[in-house]
Amino acid sequence: MSAQIIDGKAFAAGLRARVGEGVAAFHAASGRVPGLAVVLVGEDPASAVYVRSKGKATREAGMQSFEHRLPADVDQDDLLAVIDRLNGDAEVDGILVQLPLPPHIDEQAVITRIDPDKDVDGFHPVNAGRLATGLDGFVPCTPAGCVMLLKDTLGDLSGLDAVVIGRSNIVGKPMAQLLIAESCTVTVAHSRTRDLAGVVARADIVIAAVGRAEMIKGEWLKPGACVIDVGINRTAAGLVGDVDFAGAMSVAGAVTPVPGGVGPMTIACLLRNTLISAHRRAGVPMIE
Ligand code: NDP
Repeated sequence: MSAQIIDGKAFAAGLRARVGEGVAAFHAASGRVPGLAVVLVGEDPASAVYVRSKGKATREAGMQSFEHRLPADVDQDDLLAVIDRLNGDAEVDGILVQLPLPPHIDEQAVITRIDPDKDVDGFHPVNAGRLATGLDGFVPCTPAGCVMLLKDTLGDLSGLDAVVIGRSNIVGKPMAQLLIAESCTVTVAHSRTRDLAGVVARADIVIAAVGRAEMIKGEWLKPGACVIDVGINRTAAGLVGDVDFAGAMSVAGAVTPVPGGVGPMTIACLLRNTLISAHRRAGVPMIE
């Protein structure tokens, strides 16, 4: 038997279309067009691709896109000054600084400088705290997209055993918080975890966010498990995830492909967060 392939690309296209409709409704209600500012430091080719596709998706959703490109050797104070200007710019509802930043820049200082109410990436400690305590804030886009795919595939997640492999601030930790909020029983695994295969074998939901090509083996999985592969690894054979896709397909109930799974959801959730921010800042209720 072969698992269901979770079509993140199609789900994301639907979400982006709904955001586009929301942008039009927001404009009718407020006279404003939501705006997303993206800051790119340096010439990293992968980051440049992400920034281009974020700008394109922003414009396609009917929002304004502001791109700020700074040289790789930019002074940290000059970068912080750009963020201060964007914080004060009434046209800007969301600010995203493309990571990673060059080594001479203190990434945390930059993230913390963004106004938490414009932090559509959800990386500011205030938004991490809001998520952990169940308050309204901005949820990081990649884990938010994973939960949407899970609920679309499984319905109610309450009581399910979930394992999140990876504990980064941008994926693993917020992912675990979101699954706790969905009443899953959550295990967070990382590089020090003993017997990862044994941990994975108990899980109804497996979220792989490690960054190691095909390290999660199909034979580790519980039959019927739902597998969300966040990993993006460039190999000689092309882009692959953290999960051995072919192996997973013969054991799991449902699997996200790489590419075409979680990746497109990240951008769609970023657009959604920007629309949410515009509504909050204008005091206009958002209809979904
Ligand atoms: P990080 O490198 O920040 O974190 C990786 C995590 O994996 C760490 O917690 C690390 O553990 C853990 N880990 C490393 N080796 C092992 C191992 N052998 N066994 C178990 N756990 C291990 O990565 P990110 O969270 O930023 O990203 C993870 C992956 O997701 C990457 O491939 C990235 O490209 C992709 N990604 C995809 C996105 C998308 O839109 N689809 C968006 C963001 C990321 P420890 O903490 O102990 O070091």
